[in-house]
Amino acid sequence: MLPKKLAISIELFDTILSELRDSVTLVDPNLDDSPLVYVNRAFEITTGYTKEEVLNKNCRFLQCDDQNQPEIQVLREALKKGEPCQVVLKNYRKTGERFWNELSISPIRSDEGEILYFLGIQKDITQKVDLQKQLVLEMCDLRDSNKNLKEQAETDALTGLHNKRYFLEQYPAQFTFAQRNNLPFSLFMMDVDHFKAYNDFYGHIEGDHCLEKVGQALRCVFKRNTDIVARYGGEEFAVFSVGGTALFGAKLAKKLQAEIERLNIEHQKSEHEYITFSIGHVFVQDPAVCSHLELLDIADQALYAAKSKGRHCIVQKIIE
Ligand code: GH3
Ligand code: MG
Ligand code: MG
Repeated sequence: MLPKKLAISIELFDTILSELRDSVTLVDPNLDDSPLVYVNRAFEITTGYTKEEVLNKNCRFLQCDDQNQPEIQVLREALKKGEPCQVVLKNYRKTGERFWNELSISPIRSDEGEILYFLGIQKDITQKVDLQKQLVLEMCDLRDSNKNLKEQAETDALTGLHNKRYFLEQYPAQFTFAQRNNLPFSLFMMDVDHFKAYNDFYGHIEGDHCLEKVGQALRCVFKRNTDIVARYGGEEFAVFSVGGTALFGAKLAKKLQAEIERLNIEHQKSEHEYITFSIGHVFVQDPAVCSHLELLDIADQALYAAKSKGRHCIVQKIIE
């Protein structure tokens, strides 16, 4: 037997609306203070208010004291113009619990175009909003830990200076920048003298302390934020500095030696009796004359020459 069909009636619509999971409301803008004249069952469940408690009241009670929401102004403007709109509002259940209400409002007009009601469809999107917030927080956390990881991967743990990996990544880029802009630059390759003997005599931990102090001295001398200051190997350091003059570069090298001397780290196994530094400095006036790899070689040779000259000295090479 075929199911008996129900005639389309107000009762049938009421039954259908009662079955919906979204809240449905009707507001009569022609009555004083535009009150609610209809709410479905889902509205009662979502808000915790019964029909009897809310009918004939303006629905602003859902906002409690939270009236300064920018979206409320958007809603008011649309209602004033008699236009449909969609907003997301912070609303409050009868228990006081906050929920996010995605509200779509449409005017219902008579044949003559006069607004009879505003139909409201409301979705409780609290879970969605909370999830989005959670995702944003997790993304921020992820970004922070990525940043930390990147910093760790670029930093020498002992001295806090950049490491060789960072240097070799940044140095060619800065070199090219200097070449394109026709800027002079300096490359310093430096090495602690007789450091093996120091380690053997004072131990590895003292050796580490010594390297930390040397790192601080380098940071004191090469302060420009464009300088790439790195621990290039065990007791070897490299600095690439764009700009300046040969004289200025020489002054920095001398200042660094003075800083290392000032540390006054005892080294009984060195002829100088304290920790010393050998420095190879190349100053390039015309950046077009060599490649960044050639420059590394030349700076290495200058450092080697400083070692050969008896250590604790600076060998400067100027390329014009
Ligand atoms: P030179 O004056 O010719 O530079 O001689 P050197 O003894 O300084 O050079 P060498 O290359 O023979 O020895 C370097 C030593 O540096 C060997 C190693 O024990 C030490 N070294 C390398 N990395 C570290 C480190 O991270 N910590 C400590 N404590 N020592 C290190
Ligand atoms: Mg050495
Ligand atoms: Mg060395």
